[in-house]
Amino acid sequence: MSYFIDVILPIPLEKEFTYSVNKDEFVFLKPGMRVAVQFGKSKVYAALVTKIHQVAPLVYEAKEIEHILDESPIVTSHQLELWSWIATYYMCSKGEVMRAALPSAFLLESETIILKNDKITVDESILKDDEFLIYEALQHQSLLRIQEIMNITGKKTVLPIIKRLLEKEIIVVQEEIYEQYKPKIVRYVKLHAEYTKEQALQSLLESLTRAPKQKEVLMHLFMLESKNNKPIKISELAKAANSSAAIIKTLIDKDILEEYQLQVDRVQFDGDSSTLSKDLNTYQEKALQQLRTCFLDKDVCLLHGVTSSGKTEVYVKLIESQLEKGKQILYLLPEIALTTQLIKRLQAYFGEKLTVYHSRYSVNERVEAWNNVKNTTSKAQIIIGARSSIFLPFTNLGLIIIDEEHEGSFKQFDPAPRYHARDTAVVLSGMFASKVLLGSATPALETYYNAMQGKYGVVELKRRYGNVLMPDINLVDLKTKYKKKEMTGHFSDTLLEAIKDALRENEQVILFQNRRGYSPVIECNTCGHSPQCPNCDVSLTFHNHRNQLRCHYCGYHMAMLQKCLACGSTELSTKGFGTEQIEKELQELLPDYNIGRMDQDTTRGKHGYEKLITKFEDGEIDILVGTQMLTKGLDFRNVSLVGIMNADNLLNFPDFRAHERSFQLMQQVAGRAGRTSKRGKVLIQTYNPYHQILQQVSVNDYTGMYKDQIEERHQYKYPPFYRIIKITARHKDYNKVNAATLWLAKSLRMYFKEHVLGPEFPPISRIRNQYHKNILIKIPQGQSLGKTKEAVKKVHTTFKSVRDFAGVRIVINVDTY
Ligand code: ADP
Ligand code: ZN
Ligand code: ZN
Repeated sequence: MSYFIDVILPIPLEKEFTYSVNKDEFVFLKPGMRVAVQFGKSKVYAALVTKIHQVAPLVYEAKEIEHILDESPIVTSHQLELWSWIATYYMCSKGEVMRAALPSAFLLESETIILKNDKITVDESILKDDEFLIYEALQHQSLLRIQEIMNITGKKTVLPIIKRLLEKEIIVVQEEIYEQYKPKIVRYVKLHAEYTKEQALQSLLESLTRAPKQKEVLMHLFMLESKNNKPIKISELAKAANSSAAIIKTLIDKDILEEYQLQVDRVQFDGDSSTLSKDLNTYQEKALQQLRTCFLDKDVCLLHGVTSSGKTEVYVKLIESQLEKGKQILYLLPEIALTTQLIKRLQAYFGEKLTVYHSRYSVNERVEAWNNVKNTTSKAQIIIGARSSIFLPFTNLGLIIIDEEHEGSFKQFDPAPRYHARDTAVVLSGMFASKVLLGSATPALETYYNAMQGKYGVVELKRRYGNVLMPDINLVDLKTKYKKKEMTGHFSDTLLEAIKDALRENEQVILFQNRRGYSPVIECNTCGHSPQCPNCDVSLTFHNHRNQLRCHYCGYHMAMLQKCLACGSTELSTKGFGTEQIEKELQELLPDYNIGRMDQDTTRGKHGYEKLITKFEDGEIDILVGTQMLTKGLDFRNVSLVGIMNADNLLNFPDFRAHERSFQLMQQVAGRAGRTSKRGKVLIQTYNPYHQILQQVSVNDYTGMYKDQIEERHQYKYPPFYRIIKITARHKDYNKVNAATLWLAKSLRMYFKEHVLGPEFPPISRIRNQYHKNILIKIPQGQSLGKTKEAVKKVHTTFKSVRDFAGVRIVINVDTY
């Protein structure tokens, strides 16, 4: 009898792969466990078992597995099902999904290790210098890793050396698998069992009279024990008794104290979680009841509530009901909105039950969160996280909340799987017959359309909490302002006066500009030349603070020019402006106030973002200038004015979602103003004050925006009426990209006729020396998605076999965002 397993390998392979196992392994293995297997020449991977069977593969001979890595499945059957769905829907391999889904500690890969060949005697004189260095190191060390060889030789490319040593039979290589996850062990102490009896303890203490330090430690141990009845860490005891580890060790050696170890979670909440959730006001209460009713016959409901209407408090009530039922809750947020502000707020209600799953957490922390979810521990009953938290091993999901559901960052752009977390969450929820709540002040058109069609339920919350008025939004016409010379730098007199008014009242100001750096274009006044990135088709952005020109696409940078590279003229001028320039102008205009800047450049370090927010909250910053980072889920009490420095570059972005996006962005930024009693003020500077979107923003007319935009989408055949698959070809050779995309478009037209658009270069056609060219396939309602994707796959497969196109990378993006 032969026994086999099918596995997913964490690499972009079209199919699952079959390996052979012995009978014991056959009995032991279950889907969802990992096994170490060899694939390719010598590489070893952790592969995930999907099926255990007795059917030998037809076209290759199954290799044996190396060994089994898990005692029990680490992945659930629901997850495997979800992975399959993602792979099929988003047209990628299950291996790619696996890579995105598993915390990297589970994705162990092999590492090449180099050993001495003991079977031969070496004639040292035949060795070159670098070879000798390695040979010598192996006399002292049993094995070497690639990194160590790099260090020893001081070279980055060490493979040639290793190859030569192999040929001379001086070394052998092996693949070694290593586990990255290490449980965190904490050492504790307690009194040895022998002394728990009163009498024994008495005589022990007497015997210690001549060792006062040891006695002191014991007394502190008793004090700590009586104080909080929890296991006592060795470190904690040492600190409390102001004693050294050596004395504690003596006590352990004398069997007076007993050491024991426990495995603990790295992230522990030990704050106060006694806060009761807030009583809802009438509007929130009504919305909550409507949602509950809605969920009786709808699986997905939209809570469309204006900014600061108190949506979060409504979510909290729904979470409470799920907790009572013992269900798990997933709270999804765009990465950027994962602020300590919101987390603190939820922790105050839910304490330990809340787990944050965050890319900023370490590999080990992620594994612990994973295990807690999988084991349905009370610690991970509520998971809050960004898009990748949909991959957690839920066992008992009751509700998924997707806050700021309109956010584009729920869609993964690169690498595959290019999934949309909101849409995937709906599928995930279906597996548990649970519910999905989508929350937003500015829902995505697709979502609102689904609600209008009756596919999703919808509940409105039109008032801000505490009857605070919606901010008063006004447009400032830059054309007139410039003509009348009422501009100072990039500030109209209107905006500047409003800023001064707010500051005079001790209120804070937020200014939004969606570009970072000082100015995005430098131009020579004499010949018109402007410095470009050598790797990308974009102009370099001037960063004043570092006196550098930088590319925002590839990171290329150079010192700011003293003179024009083309003609040598020293008259260079800057065009356009970013956050840095606004900050600088403000410092000159208002030297007595503190200006802060929040963009990618100022929030780099681990806590950079948090620090800025705290400073602003504490009033150490009067005016905060920033990019979209400012928009998401922030709740500042004292901001009375929001200024949008230039609305036009948002509106003019070449994308069919640009108008929708601009509306959302501006409404969200505006929503940061006047969240308490006083009515907030918003000023939008623009050259097009009569632009329909700006008019709609200024009167908070979501419905009007929706109607216009949905009409346009219909007319121009865009989502939600048509689905879109975008195919991008990338290569460093311009002509190759052209030829490849022409071929692709022609082949696709045979299937999809006029529904194929392009090929067309995107606005930035070269990034990191790679040319990009796009083809869009539009899929009308009613056309089978499955068949469409099959046809695309077929074309792609043929494409791969065309010799001329070797090396051209094809990226398929389903439901492109
Ligand atoms: P949204 O998520 O809709 O923007 P939030 O939930 O952040 O709104 O609420 C806005 C502000 O109003 C917050 O500071 C919040 O603490 C407060 N708030 C909302 N609902 C209540 C309530 N029922 N009782 C007391 N304060 C509330
Ligand atoms: Zn010049
Ligand atoms: Zn570049």
